[in-house]
Amino acid sequence: MINSKTSFLALIGSPVGHSLSPVMQNAALEHLGLNLIYIAIPCKENDFEIVINSLKKINCKGLNLTIPFKEKVMQYCDKISPAAKKIKAINTLRLNDNYEWEGTNTDVEGFIYPLKRINFSKKTGIVLGSGGAARSVIQGLINLKFSNIVIISRNEQAQRKLVRDFQGSSSLIKGLMNNDLEIIDLINSSDLIINTTPVGMKHIKNENLPFGLNLWKSLNSQTIVYDLIYNPLPTELIKYCNKKGCLTIDGSQMLVAQGAQSLKYWTNSKEIPFEIMMEAVKKHL
Ligand code: NAP
Repeated sequence: MINSKTSFLALIGSPVGHSLSPVMQNAALEHLGLNLIYIAIPCKENDFEIVINSLKKINCKGLNLTIPFKEKVMQYCDKISPAAKKIKAINTLRLNDNYEWEGTNTDVEGFIYPLKRINFSKKTGIVLGSGGAARSVIQGLINLKFSNIVIISRNEQAQRKLVRDFQGSSSLIKGLMNNDLEIIDLINSSDLIINTTPVGMKHIKNENLPFGLNLWKSLNSQTIVYDLIYNPLPTELIKYCNKKGCLTIDGSQMLVAQGAQSLKYWTNSKEIPFEIMMEAVKKHL
């Protein structure tokens, strides 16, 4: 029950109205019997500084950050984990005893969660899109020891920056524009393809598959296809790849796994109720 000692956790972003984080985090907090609640706070870009500084002063124990604040928040942190420094993005903050924000990134762990039991050493992974989520995905592929990572996207500048930022890691990284003819063979021969574009989300109309049907025609049934989108499920991409006989993974496991890691960071709880969080998410999809 909410009482005068209740503290809170929050998601900050724009928009946040579609987020399932409050649903899954509140289910977990209730299960753990903690006097904490989780809310979503919509925030305009210009108001971010005042909001992030004010939250330090009003019983807020931790935050999740989403679009467009994952990079911007770095300048307001007194301590940043090596994982977040490496990918230059923070999705989780906690307030320490000196009332300073400490930041980390749980998206990499969240992304890896459904892939952990598979051996990907010497394999090739394709990342579709070159935005914020692609950063966590690329770091995840490096952690999983992929030998080759290819980024396919439509934004040349963002793609170049991504390739530059991850150059020198143990995996060979290159970028291709989405109309490059090399892609057809690559799609056919890759081991894992990850969609990090928003194509497939409810509000993106008239686009069924990322970069159009032609890109997918050479898909091989041995390839695993991982779509970060979790709403609606199944996405058109997941349906198409299932029909082709591929193993598919949707974004719900990553959503819950990154949320579970954030909850661990805030509460130091050893037993995070993953299944309860997943059940709460599935009820709302
Ligand atoms: P972002 O920073 O805006 O990046 C999106 C990327 O997709 C950019 O490269 C963008 O290219 C590209 N793109 C946008 N619309 C496209 C289209 N119609 N066709 C082809 N490419 C397109 O967003 P993000 O933070 O990376 O998030 C991407 C998606 O992943 C979102 O839908 C988000 O909900 C999902 N996500 C899921 C999880 C999870 O836990 N399951 C976690 C993180 C993100 P331009 O630069 O040219 O626009």
